[in-house]
Amino acid sequence: MGSEADIERVLWTEEEISGRVAELASQISDDFKGFPAPIVVVGVATGAFLFLADIVRKITLPVAVDFIRAESYGSGTESSGVPRVSCDLKIDISGKHVILVEDIVDTGNTLSCLISHLQRKGASSVSVCTFLDKPARRQVQFKLVGEGKFYWGFECPEYFVVGYGMDYAELYRNLPYVGVLRPEMRK
Ligand code: 5GP
Ligand code: MG
Repeated sequence: MGSEADIERVLWTEEEISGRVAELASQISDDFKGFPAPIVVVGVATGAFLFLADIVRKITLPVAVDFIRAESYGSGTESSGVPRVSCDLKIDISGKHVILVEDIVDTGNTLSCLISHLQRKGASSVSVCTFLDKPARRQVQFKLVGEGKFYWGFECPEYFVVGYGMDYAELYRNLPYVGVLRPEMRK
């Protein structure tokens, strides 16, 4: 349990991921050029940690980095209700331009909760950069703040995926690629 042998199929390889991350970073660096520094990049813990680490190293503008945590999933694969912020920012974001960095947007509940939270804290704008998007599963249409933009790395089919930061029961986060977990591993 927790190893490569549990992966049914690889969806995006390490090389494909790093190519796409470089494109996103370059797009963000262009879009935010001339904005008051620093842009605050907020990673949603824990799933976004590798994506966050990779993308900030390729953004060519001054950035501040912080983490936030929202809880709604247990150790399983289905959402268990309304998300809430369980670990808040350290940085004061009032009057700042914020980019929320997520691993995957599924129903949209987590994102919607986090965006409202950052808006209440006075962010000038809230953009979202998610590594994966599952638009077919959306239940809540989140609204960005101010001139916020939406960036996504890849559109994800309706599989439960792991790797590149994403887990099942806290395992598989360290796989350098994204794959579909063999169904028999999901108990
Ligand atoms: P949402 O609130 O949009 O339904 O769920 C967002 C969170 O659920 C994501 O940030 C992620 O942590 C988790 N999630 C959704 N789909 C998947 C998936 O396919 N694999 C994994 N590992 N987590 C997922
Ligand atoms: Mg997440």
